Order: sequence, then C-alpha cells, then structure tokens
Amino acid sequence: MLDVKWIRQNQDLIQAVADQKGIPVSIAQLVEWDDKRRLLLQEMEQLRHERNRISQEINVFIQKCELEKAEQKKPIVKEINNRLGTLEHEHKEIVKQYNHLMMYVPNVVSPETPIGLSDKDNVEVKRVGEPTRFNFEPKDHVTLGELHNMIDIPRGVKTAGSRNYYLTGAGVSLHRAVQQLAVDVLVDRGFTLLEVPLMVRTEALFHTGYFPLGQDQTYKIAEDDKWLVGTSEVPLVSYYDNEIVDVKEPIKLAAVSLCFRNEVGSAGKDVHGLYRVHQFSKVEQVIVCEDSLERSEQIFQEITENAEEILTLLELPYRIMAVCTGDMSQKTYKQLDIETWMPSRQAYGETHSSSNLLDFQARRSNIRYRDMNGKVRFCYTLNNTAVASPRILIPLLENHQEEDGSIRIPQALRKYMKGIERLQP
Ligand code: AMP
Repeated sequence: MLDVKWIRQNQDLIQAVADQKGIPVSIAQLVEWDDKRRLLLQEMEQLRHERNRISQEINVFIQKCELEKAEQKKPIVKEINNRLGTLEHEHKEIVKQYNHLMMYVPNVVSPETPIGLSDKDNVEVKRVGEPTRFNFEPKDHVTLGELHNMIDIPRGVKTAGSRNYYLTGAGVSLHRAVQQLAVDVLVDRGFTLLEVPLMVRTEALFHTGYFPLGQDQTYKIAEDDKWLVGTSEVPLVSYYDNEIVDVKEPIKLAAVSLCFRNEVGSAGKDVHGLYRVHQFSKVEQVIVCEDSLERSEQIFQEITENAEEILTLLELPYRIMAVCTGDMSQKTYKQLDIETWMPSRQAYGETHSSSNLLDFQARRSNIRYRDMNGKVRFCYTLNNTAVASPRILIPLLENHQEEDGSIRIPQALRKYMKGIERLQP
C-alpha cells in the first residue's frame, strides 16, 4: 500500500506502473473517491459543530426557562441529525469503495526494472557456470526418479489429482538434505528459524499483498476464514503485524514450510514432472529493516547472494534475471529471479525469486519502528527463496547424472545423506 498523499502527487506515475504490471485499477477513480470522502468528512464535521452549537443554545434557553425558544430550535437539530445520518451512510459506502481500490494500487518499480509484458522480457544480468554437457543421452528427472525409486508421479496423481507426487526413499532424503543445507547456510548468516502457521486468516494475506489479486491462487479452508499459504513469507511478515519493532539491525527470519498453490491459469503449462506442482517445500528468507533505500539495496544483494551460495554448494549452473514490470507482482519494487540449468528442458528454469518491497507490506501490515529521533516510521521488507524442493531436484538429479544412471551427490550435501557420494540405480 502507498501513502494516499503520495499517490495524489504522483498519479500519472502510479497509473503507468499499474498499466505496466497489468493491474486493473484507475488512479483517477481512486482520487475521485478520496475527494468525495474528504468532502463528506468536512461536511459532517461542520454539521456536528453546528449541532453542538445549537444544542448548547437550547440548554441555555432551558436554563433560563425560555422553553418556547428551546422548542423552536429542536427541529433544526432533528434536521441536522437526519442529514448527518444520510451523509454517514454515504461516507461509509465511499470509504468501502476507496479501500477496495486502494488494495489494487501497485508498488512503484525501481529505475533499473526492465519494462516488459511477460517473463520473455526479463533481462539476464549474470551467469555462473555453463550448461552441463553430456557425452551420452541424459535422462530427465522423472526417468531418473523412477530408476532410483525416488519419485512416483502416477501414485501422486491417483491420490491427489494432477500436479501431485510422492517422493520415496532417497528422493525424500535428497529433498530434506537440500532444505537442511539451506537452513544451515541461513543460520550461519544470522537468520532466526521459525516454525510458522500454514493456515492463516484472510487479513494476513491482504496485509502481505497476496490478496486481493492472488486470491484465485490460494486454497481456502472450507467454512473457515482461513487459507493455506503459498509461501511462508506470509506468516513470517505477519509475525510483526501491528507492531513497533527494533530494526537497529535488520531482522532476518527464515522458515521451512510446505507451500500450497492452486496454479490457476497454468493449465497445460509445465505439466511434465516436478516443475509446477500444487504442494512443495520452501526454505524462505524474510528481512524487516529500516526505511533506507540504500540499506535495503545492500540487503537485497545479500539475500540474493545467500541463494547463490546454496546453488554453488549444490554445484549447479545458474543465471540471474532482472524481472520486468509485466512479470512482477503488485507489491514488488525490484525483483531478481535465479534460474538454474535444467538439462531436460534444455533451458534455465526459475528456482529462486528475490524481492525488495520497500514499505508496501509494512504499511498494510502496520509494521513500524522508531528512528533515531523517536519518529515512528514504516519498515521495509524483503524476501527471497533459499531453496524450493522438489523443483530443485530437477537440476540436481539431471545435472549430476552419470551414463549408468547413477547420480553424484555434491560434496556439501553428503553430510546430510549419511556420507553417500553417489546414488546407484
Ligand atoms: P515464489 O514464491 O513464487 O517467488 O516462488 C519461489 C520458488 O518456489 C520458485 O522459484 C520455485 O522454485 C518454487 N515454486 C513456485 N511455485 C511452484 C510450484 N507450483 N511448484 C513447484 N515449485 C514452485
């Protein structure tokens, strides 16, 4: 959410960002509701003032026993009350419309953000390692998973429908190993690990900027005002909802959680294997810090480097993409995606997403801090994936396979895999 005063002063800019992000909101309409809301408030204020004045006059007449005069004034008070009732009703309706539109206003974007319509317009800014070359016909992760009894998609679909899977045996070990590696990297870097609620109130999703636009991506718990989270970013940021926090040092939070996504609109897309599923696990990084653009940019680099460090430990080739306006969400000011090389797709596939949100989430969530002068200000928030599995198993299995179908376990993962150096089919 942005400050309405700021929105009023920058209407053209914000309308342009909304258009670039493909968000259906009219800033002119918002300003019109805001004008009406203010005018009504003013008129109501004047009427209340007038009513108080006349009521006092009536009291004085009564004290002086001038009852006729008092009676003459009473209809005026009644008329004011009637008018106030109408205005209060009108005001309530307009505030509802105004608040509704406010929820659609996007965050502005950084000057470096490429302008574009979709992920095709994202711009590569860094590449580390080269796509893996094989001197044999490489297998894809589904074939490797079956060969090693690690991935069972048919039974996942049998039990839970499309885009579901079972991991078994070494598949589970690898899935947990990458998560523990990521947790250890983050804890070493000063993150506090939290176990978080995965069923949250509607409010938490509005406050973190996932609603109203992401509502159709989210599973609702029937008969309850609760939803399954698509990312632990929601409960992590909401941890400080409505609080004044100490951000002398940035607050660094991490969680390992299941994530549930409806994936509406992705029918027919990424249907092969484990790429796009309804349930996955993610180790997430969330930062809450002071409202300094410079400091948040530094932290943005740091959380991106944390993900890079994990990919380096997993010995995987990757590239970093500057995400364009059309591929960004409403809440994001700046976004870098990391894409890891996936041999079966003969392409890099997104595995991480790093975002700076400035004070967008904190305003909605009312998360504040006191600056050096004691002034209360809204915090900035940032987030990034540390690792998301099973998607990361795609590059892990496919890049580290050998001709006989065995899979080399990267050095850094071995301590989480009972020292195993290679998985034999
Ligand atoms: P996001 O929270 O949307 O930025 O996604 C972070 C990461 O989670 C992505 O880069 C993927 O690695 C993973 N991810 C997101 N959606 C899915 C999905 N439907 N299936 C599997 N992994 C996903």
